[in-house]
Amino acid sequence: MAEKSESAANIRFTSCDDISALTSEMQSVNLAPKKPSVLLHACCGPCATSCVERLAPDYAVTVYYYNPNITDREEYYLRRDTLKHFIDEFNKENAALYTVSFIEGAYDSERFIEKADPLKDEPEGGRRCDVCFSMRLAETAKMAAKMEMDYFTTTMSVSPHKDYEKIKSLGSMLEQDITPNFLDADFKKKNGFGRSVELSKKYGLYRQNFCGCDYARAAK
Ligand code: SF4
Repeated sequence: MAEKSESAANIRFTSCDDISALTSEMQSVNLAPKKPSVLLHACCGPCATSCVERLAPDYAVTVYYYNPNITDREEYYLRRDTLKHFIDEFNKENAALYTVSFIEGAYDSERFIEKADPLKDEPEGGRRCDVCFSMRLAETAKMAAKMEMDYFTTTMSVSPHKDYEKIKSLGSMLEQDITPNFLDADFKKKNGFGRSVELSKKYGLYRQNFCGCDYARAAK
């Protein structure tokens, strides 16, 4: 009995004020709408800038760097580190609002070369690029499913050199076999590319002058 009274004495009673503060805190937690999640495939830092800026207010964004098409290793790591630098800076600047996450996929450039080499003489925008889009989007969709994301999409559409209808039709095909939906976002619209140039300057990002593979670089 003595023990029981002692433990009763230790119970901390919460005042009415505390309870109403707690209730209103709980309500604000419960009422805050949960943002849908999106796995955003990103080819480089500059392209990611305006896409992240556009998505972050409405989605929980995870950026996915999966680019085996960047066949030069040094270039691959330079673009990855530029992208990470941008995300770090963006997160610092928006710390009170949202946090963007980052993950990196496998660097399986041999797999890319195996698929792309028979199409090495294709012009940029031709069949080699279809294979390249398809490989990167399929991997993004798979990863989004694994992470139980609501959506997947890509920054590739921000480039004026990339055909959005091709990207969209690949994304729509993939979503038929996989749970997350393709987020239909043509990021070049509403001056998305121009904004990416502005933001790249603002964050001092390295901006490459070729698409990614050595075939494209050699054709310059
Ligand atoms: S030019 Fe660009 S999109 Fe086309 S295959 Fe090379 S890296 Fe991929």
